[in-house]
Amino acid sequence: MNTTKTNTTVRRNVPIEQTRNIGIAAHIDAGKTTLTERILFYAGAIHHAGEVHDGDTTMDFDEIERRKGITIAAAAISCAWTPQAEDGLLKPFRGVRHRIHIIDTPGHVDFTAEVERSMRVLDGAVAVFSGVEGVQPQSERVWRQATRYGVPRLAFINKMDRLGADFERVVGEMRTKLNANAWPVLIPIGREDDLRGQIDVIHGRAIVYDVAQEYGLTYHITELPAAERECATEARHALIEVLAEIDEPIADAFLAEREIDALELKAAIRRQTIANRFVPVVGGSAFKYVGVQALLDAVVDYLPSPIDLPPAIGTDPDSGESIAVPAGDEEPFRALVFKLSTDEFSRRRVFVRVYSGVLRPGDTVLNTVTGRRERISRVSEVRADKETALEAAFAGDIAVVAGLKDVVTGHTLCAERAPVLLAPPTFPPPVVSMA
Ligand code: GDP
Repeated sequence: MNTTKTNTTVRRNVPIEQTRNIGIAAHIDAGKTTLTERILFYAGAIHHAGEVHDGDTTMDFDEIERRKGITIAAAAISCAWTPQAEDGLLKPFRGVRHRIHIIDTPGHVDFTAEVERSMRVLDGAVAVFSGVEGVQPQSERVWRQATRYGVPRLAFINKMDRLGADFERVVGEMRTKLNANAWPVLIPIGREDDLRGQIDVIHGRAIVYDVAQEYGLTYHITELPAAERECATEARHALIEVLAEIDEPIADAFLAEREIDALELKAAIRRQTIANRFVPVVGGSAFKYVGVQALLDAVVDYLPSPIDLPPAIGTDPDSGESIAVPAGDEEPFRALVFKLSTDEFSRRRVFVRVYSGVLRPGDTVLNTVTGRRERISRVSEVRADKETALEAAFAGDIAVVAGLKDVVTGHTLCAERAPVLLAPPTFPPPVVSMA
């Protein structure tokens, strides 16, 4: 079957604008593994809260721990996330379901080339810093790579429950050492043993962890003590002032002394984060349920979907001319092989990022580099517990494909009628009109 015929027969269950392809970048020991595990657990835990999540994992945390070496080592893991509804934190999971693909960005210095390769397929990244150690040399290196590829980022300052953690200091280091326009959107309340919640700067309210802290789904917006109330107010003013310098709608509202609501503020942060002019900062701990949940909400709120970025640019293999590859299901199929690895049974996994079109099992694709036509036998994705077969992979998705005999990292797969070589996609900041 030809790839061109498939588009009409399968339907995606998550729209492309609700897809996020993110990397988690960190200095070794900052908590990347812990954070990834907790994300997968919490994304799966929603299942227990009564929501149907498309067959996602229902395993408990111990199970994740046990299989850690297997799944966390995968090049990309997919999960579902339904953020908080805007109308209040006490009604969780009423929002719109999103699909988050977490792509591994190797943190070890020796794997710098691999870091760069994975940067190509990301739409955004979460940079994890330790609240104790702050910005370390290796984080600077990865940060610069992300800057070079124009990958929009948000920062997670982790380990705020540890002795010696200092949120303000790390935000300061991000500004001085990384030259980042970094501003808190969630500020930890208390620190070390007394880490007990987060100030939600956008909504001007507080999230206080319940007694269970780690697993508690309920939390309360409480009357803040004076010091924390002041911190929340000041942080919101500072945020608005800094956004007014770079974002036209906020500048207008600020000059007109008009009240700016949470949705406007979020939209401005999103625009400026995608344009690489702003870095939202979340402080917390990978060990605290609410903090990880808030971080996932921030991923959805501030990091781009595949269609928020300029199209990937490929090359016509014959003429050498540049070809734009817009992220649409109706476009011809085009994907980049970004990682080869093996699963726990030593079977080869070929990870692809689909830039455009749809890929189904049974499709024949052209490998533009080898010139070979190959048949795809299986399309799947890696979830927290296992590899799950898919009816199809769509534009913007990350998937695992089987059936290819002759393939290496960096090869392009595409519809036979529309050959292209996918150069490393560039992410020039979109032009945001200030007029
Ligand atoms: P990675 O090297 O970045 O993947 O770091 P890990 O996730 O392996 O974490 C390194 C160590 O820090 C482990 O012992 C974790 O248990 C611990 N850790 C991670 N996150 C937190 C946190 O939020 N608070 C505390 N106290 N420890 C953490």
